[in-house]
Amino acid sequence: MTLSAEERYPVAEPRPAPTLADTGPLGEILEATRARHLPNRQGALADYIPELAAVEPDPFGLAIATVDGRLIATADAELPFTIQSVSKAFVYCIALELVGRDAVLERVGVEPSGDAFNAIVFDPHTNRPFNPMVNAGAITATAIIHQATGGHAFELILERLSAAAGRRLELDEAVYRSESDTGHRNRAIAHLLHNVGAIDGDVDAVLDAYFRQCSILVTACDLACMGATLSHIGENPITGRQVFDLTAVRNTLAVMFTCGMYDYSGHWAYDVGIPAKSGVGGGVVGVVNRQLAVGSFSPRLDAKDNSVRGVAAFKDLGEELGLHAFECSNIGSSYVSALLGAPQA
Ligand code: GLU
Repeated sequence: MTLSAEERYPVAEPRPAPTLADTGPLGEILEATRARHLPNRQGALADYIPELAAVEPDPFGLAIATVDGRLIATADAELPFTIQSVSKAFVYCIALELVGRDAVLERVGVEPSGDAFNAIVFDPHTNRPFNPMVNAGAITATAIIHQATGGHAFELILERLSAAAGRRLELDEAVYRSESDTGHRNRAIAHLLHNVGAIDGDVDAVLDAYFRQCSILVTACDLACMGATLSHIGENPITGRQVFDLTAVRNTLAVMFTCGMYDYSGHWAYDVGIPAKSGVGGGVVGVVNRQLAVGSFSPRLDAKDNSVRGVAAFKDLGEELGLHAFECSNIGSSYVSALLGAPQA
């Protein structure tokens, strides 16, 4: 008997609705952060994928999900947008889980590249992509999943990302078509990867899964839940479902910390100091280990391709809540816990 994708990868349990941000002290901080940066209209929409240049530029949503299962959100936090490169972090995690760290490291490195995300360049010492957060490394991670699932990469990716979000995610067909029709640079990268032996098999099928994974629709609430699943060592704290393998989560967070924010990653680690990943759809997810995750959405991008308001909001929240991994002012987790009050039953 052949199982359908739905039967093979069952629908994730739906998560409850978020609490609005004007309730409780953490919500008030989130709302004030949004209000502070809402008037900022700097930056520009990504335009190299035609469909992305046509999105509504003004929305700005913020959401926080905590490891004790709370989801707090502002206005616009449930508006859909395409996940784009934020998918790379989660896809890397799945690849690690499927074939193990050593097999993945043989095919894609973990060093920051210092080049643009879509650069057609490999590590000169290994002839492999620098890391899984640039396109070359991300396409390799998708190829690993394609191979390990016998050609069912996208079904598995969609199922796992849905389980991390706590609801069934869907594809934006128009963005997918747009990416697929215009993705000549990614095609060039994938064929070069094939040429150096980093990926094998059906290059077009791997690319198709990659274009689809980038075109999955998410919201800021979804990103917060997906991040909180990493923060909660692989278990979705809202649905209680174990989604990712513990060791794979650790390795994923390490790469997000050093490579997640394009060419701004070093500065981000310095200023904000949490593992994060952004995408050209305007989403950013930031993970505070064992505490919470923040999801943000605002589509106008800065010169480094990160969301202008997203970066500004993370800087403020990081400062105000003491989220930096090397925070030494003794606020951090105890401060967030105090703001949240007693854990939920
Ligand atoms: N689908 C996009 C690409 O591969 C993702 C870019 C991004 O978000 O960085 O070009």
